[in-house]
Amino acid sequence: MRRILARVVALWLFCVGLMVGSVGHAQTDFKVTLLGTASPSPRADRFGPSTLVEAGDQKLLFDAGRGVPIRLRQLNVPLGKINVLFLTHYHSDHTSGIPDVWLTGWLQGAYARRTSPFHVIGPVGAKALMSNLEKAYALDIKIRLEDEKLPPEGIATVVEEFDKDGSVYEKNGVKVIAFAVDHGLAIKPAVGYRIEYKGRSVTISGDTRYDQNVIKYGTGSDVLIHEVGSARPELLATSIPVQRIIAHHTTPREAGTVFSQAKPKMAVYTHIVLQSSEKISEPTLDDVVAETRQSYSGPLTVGEDLMSFEIGDTVTIRRYKP
Ligand SMILES: [Zn+2]
Ligand SMILES: [Zn+2]
Repeated sequence: MRRILARVVALWLFCVGLMVGSVGHAQTDFKVTLLGTASPSPRADRFGPSTLVEAGDQKLLFDAGRGVPIRLRQLNVPLGKINVLFLTHYHSDHTSGIPDVWLTGWLQGAYARRTSPFHVIGPVGAKALMSNLEKAYALDIKIRLEDEKLPPEGIATVVEEFDKDGSVYEKNGVKVIAFAVDHGLAIKPAVGYRIEYKGRSVTISGDTRYDQNVIKYGTGSDVLIHEVGSARPELLATSIPVQRIIAHHTTPREAGTVFSQAKPKMAVYTHIVLQSSEKISEPTLDDVVAETRQSYSGPLTVGEDLMSFEIGDTVTIRRYKP
């Protein structure tokens, strides 16, 4: 009965979200699209973590997990049009798509065509990552320069690192603020980002446990995109590896506490970590919503790949339609 109720409430809230969004129809040039909403486990329906923020003439990518070029192609956003890639931390599920975005984005197809350097901004570690990728792919770069005569400036990299909270990017009215988050003692650095444009904002938690800093930077955001991790109680009680994983993430109830305090116009789940074993199934998305409802009653959307949020007077949610 409780599960049915949770399902009805979730559906109702989703519909309300769509209706709220469709009332204003205000034109906006501030939009967020979830490119990948999974955690490391390979899935066909959810690709690796990545979020596209389009604000004015800027296209900013936050993390580049598995499959980003495919998702951008589905949106008809050429890889070469990405202005900056921001990194939250160095777990491979957030970075494994970087060589694909960087190298494929240099090719001459209409889906790519980058002719200026690939710009990366991240916490300390970004420079080592990119310079090692340059070494790993040196032969490909050499071959394409000689053989395809691709423009050398299109494969160059510009990498900026930071080591404290604050503004890390400002251009054409778009400001990006980085803030430290707590992804676990051994997983440092780890950051989230707040993106501001025309008096509105989006906050992306990055991978984190419950952290007051997300509330501090996320408060007043139109859209607060948060990670979440969950396992059934009987699995959590018996599996040490699962305990370890869940300890690095935010439970639905904790995320609800973050949302209750930050009060976004729309709270959104991404990076949905659902643990299971051979005997115990993963929690359902309805379970995740029901647990969130123990600590939060405001607008909530469980993110899907290619779901977008247009940020105007209201937040308009759109599911992907090919
Ligand atoms: Zn992750
Ligand atoms: Zn992580």
